[in-house]
Amino acid sequence: MTDLWTEVDDYLIDRLVPTDPVLDEVLRANAAAGLPAIDVAPNQGRLLHIFALMVGARRILEIGTLGAYSTIWLARALGEGGRLVTLEADAAHAAVARENIGRAGLQDVVDLRVGPALETLPQLAGEAPFDLVFVDADKENNPAYLEWALRLSRPGTVIICDNVVRDGAIADPDSPDPRVQGTRRFFDMVAAEPRLVASAIQTVGGKGWDGFAIAVVR
Ligand code: SAM
Repeated sequence: MTDLWTEVDDYLIDRLVPTDPVLDEVLRANAAAGLPAIDVAPNQGRLLHIFALMVGARRILEIGTLGAYSTIWLARALGEGGRLVTLEADAAHAAVARENIGRAGLQDVVDLRVGPALETLPQLAGEAPFDLVFVDADKENNPAYLEWALRLSRPGTVIICDNVVRDGAIADPDSPDPRVQGTRRFFDMVAAEPRLVASAIQTVGGKGWDGFAIAVVR
């Protein structure tokens, strides 16, 4: 089945995602630097871009930069004067990301902060409120990232959390995987939070079986 999912992804990308030499070069640079290929797929990157356009985002927060592939998709949706803050713990990932952000001509738009997100998030009060928050870092900390996303939001802010299905493991309450347990706690918090209207969607494709959660702050 995975082969067919990949074939369909390739078809959709071919039809809907224009060839982009900068993003192709970003993925090449990531691979050359030995970064894991855990960035969003091209059609998912385009979906993030569409979400940012839909909310007319002027301020975006991303937790988990890697090589800035998703960062670039999101930042390109910002209007004049828009700004994206992205948080990355790994200095080697951040160095590659900085080069890629320059490659995309977004160095004046993207503010890349290096360090564990739980240390950099408290510095962002002056940048808030964000119009869109994309959570895609260490999944164990998804509950804390949700708390921060809410703290840095306004009514209408959209919060997206990636990799919430994990090959179906999310449905297993006894999963020993701390990333699954972190994401299950994230869902518990979402369910108990009256300020959020949320859903989650399973996805299949070239990156396997996973999914994302999306919520809007009332
Ligand atoms: N959003 C990226 C994309 O689609 O191109 C992929 C991000 S990757 C799935 C997760 C990233 O989060 C990795 O680069 C990892 O180093 C970073 N990360 C892990 N723990 C972190 C933490 N505590 N704070 C900030 N970043 C962290």
